[in-house]
Amino acid sequence: MRVALYDYAKLYREHREEIDAAIARVLESGQFRWGEEVPAFEEEFANWVDARHAVAVGSGTAALTVALRALGVGPGDEVITVANTDLAGSAAISAVGASVVWVDIDPESRCIDTTACEAAITPQTRALLPVDMYGHPSDMIEMRRIADGHGLALVEDACLALGAEIDGRRLGSLADVTCFSFSSGKHLGAIGAAGACTTQDAALADRVRRLASDGQARGRHYGTKPGLGLHHETEGHNQQMDEMQAAILRAKLPHLDETLAVRRAQADRYTERLAGLADLPGQKTGLRHAWRNYVIELDQRDALAAHLFAREIDCNALYSPPMHLQPVYKGLGYAVGSLPRTERSCNRLLGLPLGPHLSLHQIDIVAEEVRAGLA
Ligand SMILES: *Cc1c(COP(=O)(O)O)cnc(C)c1O
Repeated sequence: MRVALYDYAKLYREHREEIDAAIARVLESGQFRWGEEVPAFEEEFANWVDARHAVAVGSGTAALTVALRALGVGPGDEVITVANTDLAGSAAISAVGASVVWVDIDPESRCIDTTACEAAITPQTRALLPVDMYGHPSDMIEMRRIADGHGLALVEDACLALGAEIDGRRLGSLADVTCFSFSSGKHLGAIGAAGACTTQDAALADRVRRLASDGQARGRHYGTKPGLGLHHETEGHNQQMDEMQAAILRAKLPHLDETLAVRRAQADRYTERLAGLADLPGQKTGLRHAWRNYVIELDQRDALAAHLFAREIDCNALYSPPMHLQPVYKGLGYAVGSLPRTERSCNRLLGLPLGPHLSLHQIDIVAEEVRAGLA
């Protein structure tokens, strides 16, 4: 039987009644965009991550874009981030008209190297955008110190790290804005696209909310008050979460702690079974990993991947190649070798199946086949 990276239908079946009831509630309400579910989800999600404010948006990509815009990042500004991730962060920086600057990673956490980050700051730098790779938190304490010391905005891409902790504190309140994705394969998966921004700053939350709802206060969209026409103080876009996704996420949020515990148990099992076979993902002290992915590194990556595929075990090489070597960014002039630790990680990484759709027995099967494939 195939060991898949994802099985969305299985996860739906596990909570079918609650999800079906949530969908029916939205359909019956007749409110698909400006109803009660989105504000209710925002409150429940803010409570879960222990942030003062959450704004529900249409995707993790939208969360990043709207966060940068709300912080005033724009043309002429530079934003420092990492390249060993997906396109979303870099594309969000370009979308607001700013320039992306990639720096190297810390090979142990695979998150931004804080020393390299500070060294890359120029008079044009306006914001820092660390990415919590695979669920391992960036060093947000040090990133906060750097941002404050240089008067920069700090946006955290926690799309892979919902539930990760630093000193017992869940990610969501350590940056100016923390961005989450509820894409189906993430820790809290919508049935389609969804995301959120969290912040401790009420005025910033309000700006994010307006920018993501066509540049108007949300109440104006309800259209129930006579004479209430358009009122645009800012230019926003339609990047808001819809009612259906909010209702589905509300049904799934109460199960998030359970699925995090499953992920952590699976990661511990891999770490136990794969010891000595490859470079295994670590967890720095004082931090709690959210284990969106279990990504090992080894020189024989391609041969092992072929072995696993032949035994119906899915695996991937995400995220590689890194963004600074992607064709779309050729013009920015980052040569091969410019970010050596990023490139070494991307050339050797292999993501193994992990998630609540799998049993510990399946994790053992994968671990056994990794051992066999390297024998
Ligand atoms: C998933 C993800 C995103 C984008 O989220 P979407 O909801 O797919 O737009 C951004 N950054 C990282 C690190 C991600 O994993």
